[in-house]
Amino acid sequence: MEELLEQLLEECRPFTREGKVASYIPELAKSDPAGLGICVQCSDGRHYQAGDAEKRFTIQSVVKPMLLLLALMDNGEEYVRSRVGVEATGKPFDAINMTDQTLLSDHLNPMVNMGAIAMCSLIRGESYEHRYQRLLELVRTLAGDPDIALDEAVYQSERRTGSKNRALAYLLQTYGMLEDDVEQVLDCYFKCCSISVNSRDLARIGFTLANRGKPAQSDQRLFPGRYAHYVNAVLMTCGMYDGSGDFAVNVGVPAKSGVGGGIMAVVPTKMGIGIYSPALDQKGNSLAGIQVLTRLSQRLYLSIF
Ligand code: GLN
Repeated sequence: MEELLEQLLEECRPFTREGKVASYIPELAKSDPAGLGICVQCSDGRHYQAGDAEKRFTIQSVVKPMLLLLALMDNGEEYVRSRVGVEATGKPFDAINMTDQTLLSDHLNPMVNMGAIAMCSLIRGESYEHRYQRLLELVRTLAGDPDIALDEAVYQSERRTGSKNRALAYLLQTYGMLEDDVEQVLDCYFKCCSISVNSRDLARIGFTLANRGKPAQSDQRLFPGRYAHYVNAVLMTCGMYDGSGDFAVNVGVPAKSGVGGGIMAVVPTKMGIGIYSPALDQKGNSLAGIQVLTRLSQRLYLSIF
């Protein structure tokens, strides 16, 4: 397996030159566009990795499935579904989906920014700092990595330049979908996006979703299997934003991307995959990362379709 991963990275390395690192968050512009790493966590407890698999980067939107998971664990499915919808948006991650006079909770999707900001308000906690700490703890537990921490520089950079996310949050407030202090909610969202992880963490977290709540390291169920089903379904239809259809056709497994260059892919019952490659395509997805996953899926027959 390690040999296959090395080979795929070599095949796909030229694609890193076709993408661009995110620059709308200034700190992310410092990422090395040539970075490329992969880790695969398998159901026999073993993991395989190649390239920059240990390199840390900010989780960005790959945190959205964990926000959804914690919201489900805190409130149950019915309540979460009543506050945030599940229909694919077919739009960019930061789209302002206003076509008419109304914005309803059914218009929100938890895998794009507006829905994710709304989800921060569903997480339990005495303060928004406490909610963030609970989310961070969940990420550490799912990854089995107590060293996961905040990237302070990216958080500050994102907070200073997050006007579009502010616009989305104030729009939610206008339509009665955000009752709490908007700046505190946003602060929680920015911190969640600025958690620093590596490909191995994403592979392990992806594995818990593939294995209906049980991590590779133990037999202890960390969340109900039904929530894995819920999260994976939403990942399948919207995890790669307006690139989700192509991804379903070419790779065929639930996955989530982030502008830090990460992709977490979930191969139900079989494996979790973590990818790092910060040069992005037009839609904000890791360009070489998608190429690696396309080839891995073909070679190992991973598509669920
Ligand atoms: N923190 C980023 C933002 O809000 C997350 C976007 C992403 O990874 N696609 O813009």
